[in-house]
Amino acid sequence: MKRLIIATGNMGKLNEIKEIMNTDEIEIISMKEAGVDIDIVEDGKTFEENALIKAKAVCGACGEIVLSDDSGLEVDYLNKEPGIYSARYMGEDTPYSIKNAEILKRLEGVPDEKRTGRFVCAVAAAFPNGEEIVVTETMEGRIGYEERGENGFGYDPIFRPDGYEVSSGELPMEEKNLISHRGKAFRRMWAILSKREEFKQ
Ligand code: IMP
Repeated sequence: MKRLIIATGNMGKLNEIKEIMNTDEIEIISMKEAGVDIDIVEDGKTFEENALIKAKAVCGACGEIVLSDDSGLEVDYLNKEPGIYSARYMGEDTPYSIKNAEILKRLEGVPDEKRTGRFVCAVAAAFPNGEEIVVTETMEGRIGYEERGENGFGYDPIFRPDGYEVSSGELPMEEKNLISHRGKAFRRMWAILSKREEFKQ
């Protein structure tokens, strides 16, 4: 069976990607399962650059086609912070209850129409012959007024997707995957890859 390597060590993310891509035509495995154990410095200035840095590093190490994603939350009122620093905002190990409370505090008194923002996800594919493909998708919405919901992770409890009365932390995972930045970006990438010779059945 053909296989596709995902440049992540995070099994939760790997499982989410498998569910999103929803294919049994190929085997989707982590970089570790492909025998790659390297530290990658994400020093890009955009989601796209960081996704490519990871995909190319792992592709260089294993010589196979590799997919990688980079994502984060942009809050317009905060000049698009935390953006590419979403995971590192206030320190990598700081609990999200504290990060979310800080964002809510910085938006205190800000009216609904100025609380716009989005989750962004760039997905990069790196090929052994040096080819690269990058796609980016967003989930637009607004920052709420309190933390809501136990589903999801990260900034989900304070983010209300457009068209919804609930936070993305209140949506069941399958429903979030249908509208999420990551869901849309991986489905679009797979639509491109699955037409290529390497993945045709
Ligand atoms: P990455 O794993 O380097 O892409 O880090 C992305 C970071 O952005 C996560 O650690 C979260 O802080 C945030 N993030 C990205 N996507 C989501 C989401 O769907 N819900 C909540 N937070 C997210």
